[in-house]
Amino acid sequence: MTEPINKIRESDQLYSRRVYPLDELGLTEEQIAVAFAMTSRRPEAFDEIAKQVSEEKAADFNERWVLGYGHASVAEHAVVHLAVENVSRLAVDTLEDNRLASYTEKSSRYQVMPEDYYYVPEELDQHPALKQEYEAACQGLFQGYFKLIDGCMDYLRGITPRIASERDGAYRMRLSRVATDHCRALLPAATLTHVGVTANARTLEHAIAKLVSAELIEEQRLGEAIREQGRLVTPTLIKYADKVDYLQRAPGLALELARRYGFADEEPAVDSVTGDGAPEVKLVHWDPMGEEKLAAVILYRYSNLSYDEVLEQVKGLGTEALQAIIDESSAGLGPHDTPVREFEVVDYTFEFLLDYGAYREFKRHRMMSYLPQPLTVAHGYLIPQVVADAGLSALFDDAVRPAEEAYWNVKEVSPQAAQYLVTHAHNRRVVTRFNLRESYHLFKMRTSDEAHFAIREPMVEAMRLAVEVQPQLFRHLKLRNYPDWWPHAKQD
Ligand SMILES: Cc1cc2nc3c(=O)[nH]c(=O)nc-3n(C[C@H](O)[C@H](O)[C@H](O)COP(=O)(O)OP(=O)(O)OC[C@H]3O[C@@H](n4cnc5c(N)ncnc54)[C@H](O)[C@@H]3O)c2cc1C
Repeated sequence: MTEPINKIRESDQLYSRRVYPLDELGLTEEQIAVAFAMTSRRPEAFDEIAKQVSEEKAADFNERWVLGYGHASVAEHAVVHLAVENVSRLAVDTLEDNRLASYTEKSSRYQVMPEDYYYVPEELDQHPALKQEYEAACQGLFQGYFKLIDGCMDYLRGITPRIASERDGAYRMRLSRVATDHCRALLPAATLTHVGVTANARTLEHAIAKLVSAELIEEQRLGEAIREQGRLVTPTLIKYADKVDYLQRAPGLALELARRYGFADEEPAVDSVTGDGAPEVKLVHWDPMGEEKLAAVILYRYSNLSYDEVLEQVKGLGTEALQAIIDESSAGLGPHDTPVREFEVVDYTFEFLLDYGAYREFKRHRMMSYLPQPLTVAHGYLIPQVVADAGLSALFDDAVRPAEEAYWNVKEVSPQAAQYLVTHAHNRRVVTRFNLRESYHLFKMRTSDEAHFAIREPMVEAMRLAVEVQPQLFRHLKLRNYPDWWPHAKQD
């Protein structure tokens, strides 16, 4: 009698398991990609195949299969680490708008930016007076930023008792963290930053195509620099990354359509200097069938029925059974666990009016779709609480006013370049769709006490709206900090 398969010992295996890093063999990224690709047609072990893949052979293979026949997923095995420095936050937003890559950026929460650390757009080279106005506005924002930090530090020292045994440095750091969190609001989108990027060659090619097809000159230049430097690591796989006519034409076409149908309203929506631009959160769409759909996919996995048959039967089970299915299947979720993939069948569409600082944090969540409107000063800004409490609102407004004026003037010659003058305090509209599984991650991270207040408040409101319509779906969401209105038992 043959033994059940789970009783076979490791040594009985005819083919022994091997797991090893191919990176150790001193191969280029392109050779690694090709060694992996060749397993599709060759029986040998990866390290055996790799020995036969010279750099020339890898280049030939990639030209023929990846570029010629479109077997593009091979390029995902070649990985590039790029250090990108002194690029505007605006351009980095476009670079980071590629969800299959990893980014770590200089933080405006943990660092005070250096003096006049801003980008001057080439779009203004032919307009010296405007360029001067732009520079004066940016300098005003940076001077205001430093004055605000000093003012907030003085104010915070006055109201924050030192913790027993807290050293000078630690006390200063604690206050400085609060001050930078609030004063970063004055920094413009032109503020420079550093970002470390880890991307595979396929994603990188797409990122380059988007950048070189973009409207902003800085983004085109960044795309060219990434292409040039990326080619040092993967010369063949991003060889043809170039402008894409469709991508280049897309913003112009969308604007033309918006104008044709009367949606391109470019007037200021609020008097931003009065500071009435509070963030807004709307739950635009949610799926009233969400609970039935989630229960159906949970039951589907071990059923022989088709999905529509399961869903039809689930509809007849009644509320109590539905809740029991969802409840029992998610009760074991720990504070660091990700819900099972079944949670992806339920999704939510929200519209946020977020300040640019909050927007920059929000868009880093890669498991969602987000569609922002261009940066504008038209939706106003809100002065951060500590700045207002410190009696520094007038200083804030005085720095913002010239930047807003310069924004409208620059917009006359370049709507794209005008965006550089929008501060982190100005609001931007963004519509977004994410599923229940990602909402667990997003709500957990961004409603916690550690999250920046500019994103925490809108995310708490988004969570409230989602929980209001489908409370049962959030019963086992484990938060770091629960709001007072939480309808379920608060769990550790
Ligand atoms: C307190 C705090 C401080 C921060 N400081 C900085 C900072 O200084 N600089 C900075 O640049 N960012 C900073 N961030 C942003 C942070 O690094 C993340 O980029 C951001 O929060 C998005 O979250 P995420 O990467 O967990 O997941 P999402 O992109 O929302 O994805 C959801 C989940 O999917 C999985 N996932 C998604 N993509 C990948 C992938 N490529 N590989 C593997 N798994 C993946 C992970 O499990 C992830 O948790 C900070 C965030 C917080 C909360």
